[in-house]
Amino acid sequence: MTRQSSVLIIGAGISGLSSAWWLSQHGIHSILLEQAKRSGGLIDSTDQDGYLTDHAASMILNFDSAVSRFISESGLQKHRVNRNPVAKRYVLKNSELAEVPVNIREMLCSDLFSFKTRIQMITEAFRCCRRSEWESVAAFIRRRLGQEILDLAIDPYVSAVLACDPEKACARSTLPRLTALENEFGSITAGVLIKKLLPGKRGLPQEAFSFSGGMKTLVDTLAENPLAEIHTGQQVIALEPLKSGWRVTASDNTTELQYQTRHVIFSTPANIACKLLKPIHPKLSALLNQIEYAPIAQIHLGFDRGAFSKPLDGSGFLVPSREKTPIRGSLWISNLIANRAPEGKLLTSNFIGGACQADALKNPDRVLVDQTLRALQNLCGLKGSPEMIRINRHHQGLPLYHGNYHRLTQAINRYEGRCDGLHFVANYLQGISIRDRIIQAKTVADQISTRMTEGTTSRPAYVWTNADEVLNRV
Ligand SMILES: Cc1cc2nc3c(=O)[nH]c(=O)nc-3n(C[C@H](O)[C@H](O)[C@H](O)COP(=O)(O)OP(=O)(O)OC[C@H]3O[C@@H](n4cnc5c(N)ncnc54)[C@H](O)[C@@H]3O)c2cc1C
Repeated sequence: MTRQSSVLIIGAGISGLSSAWWLSQHGIHSILLEQAKRSGGLIDSTDQDGYLTDHAASMILNFDSAVSRFISESGLQKHRVNRNPVAKRYVLKNSELAEVPVNIREMLCSDLFSFKTRIQMITEAFRCCRRSEWESVAAFIRRRLGQEILDLAIDPYVSAVLACDPEKACARSTLPRLTALENEFGSITAGVLIKKLLPGKRGLPQEAFSFSGGMKTLVDTLAENPLAEIHTGQQVIALEPLKSGWRVTASDNTTELQYQTRHVIFSTPANIACKLLKPIHPKLSALLNQIEYAPIAQIHLGFDRGAFSKPLDGSGFLVPSREKTPIRGSLWISNLIANRAPEGKLLTSNFIGGACQADALKNPDRVLVDQTLRALQNLCGLKGSPEMIRINRHHQGLPLYHGNYHRLTQAINRYEGRCDGLHFVANYLQGISIRDRIIQAKTVADQISTRMTEGTTSRPAYVWTNADEVLNRV
């Protein structure tokens, strides 16, 4: 029997679940097919020995009103736990932890940066723009703010949080807000100051939060959506364009199941979309094939606070890629979010991997734990042993913004726009963060709703316009 639905979503991670939620706000029912036994994708949480660990994302950082609406109207508001106002954060400089200034005024006074760098920051506004068609993060920051700001402020964020190599990452995709400041104001520092001074230019205040029960609560709550029919344990294995819509074949390992739908949303990693679309749209598939991923491991370690000779009083530290330490960063989660560790204990989430350490995950768990413990001994005065150890490995952790990523994603989006009923809501397009996932899901749900209201069925799903022209631009 073929099941019918106006929208079918492949993958029930946060991208797929958010799409279903925004569609339900338009009164649109959707079917989600998820190959795993549970929905949520990368997002999950585990309580082990009283320590609550997140398998991937640990917090939402938000400054967008649509995301605030999503949280309050989806029933998540009552579970929300705001990040503690822990001010101190650290970066590794010459094998020691140094406190990071939090704003431009503090940066100008901080001895983290040399006098020359501080002068470079002040005079940045007078430097003319020499924008090239493609520029790496490293080249962009060196040009505007100098090598030291790259090494100590930008590289740790790009290589540790986004898992990218700053020398290869596309500045426009990786640092969209900084490159936009240069475009709009001709200067990063001037742009930041103008935005602070002019009320109309200020965005929503930034907020960071998680949920009681961990980030699992986010995906579990969204999975309760009555207009979203989630089928777990069903892997989509084929896609066929119809005159108006799509036939989707899934397998539950024993049986093949058929679905017919007007709109398909791909919310899987790029390589899965690449494989499924290859027989139908080889050129689009070739574009998707260019998306690279970095492997990341999270080593969660729980300690008695007395195990450290230094007080761990901040949010954690990040490691610039030029430092030799094997870990990329350490988040002191229980300082940031309440009830993540038993009383008197500390939960640390430590990261290994990313593009600059692509081979690191070849090591067995024992080596990853030893490397992390050695780093914490050298940098934080760890004397004792962990009471809790948990490791989450992600071989396709995060998509990399490498090469001309901006052009590549533009080309994918143009193909998408030309193929009626085919949509992408996935973290290799328009941002990896949960905030970005929720925003992109809204955009696509709104488009689908508009098309349904207009009854746009004129173009069959397999007709393309100027597809080669799009490809040639990449
Ligand atoms: C270590 C780590 C830490 C992070 N920390 C943060 C953070 O603190 N804050 C933040 O905002 N973001 C963070 N992120 C990013 C964020 O977690 C991810 O970008 C986001 O969860 C990705 O969601 P997604 O739904 O796009 O993809 P996924 O979660 O990968 O979901 C895709 C789903 O598709 C399914 N699927 C694949 N193939 C098929 C098929 N053929 N048929 C059916 N189903 C299929 C998969 O099983 C999966 O469930 C972090 C990421 C990592 C790896």
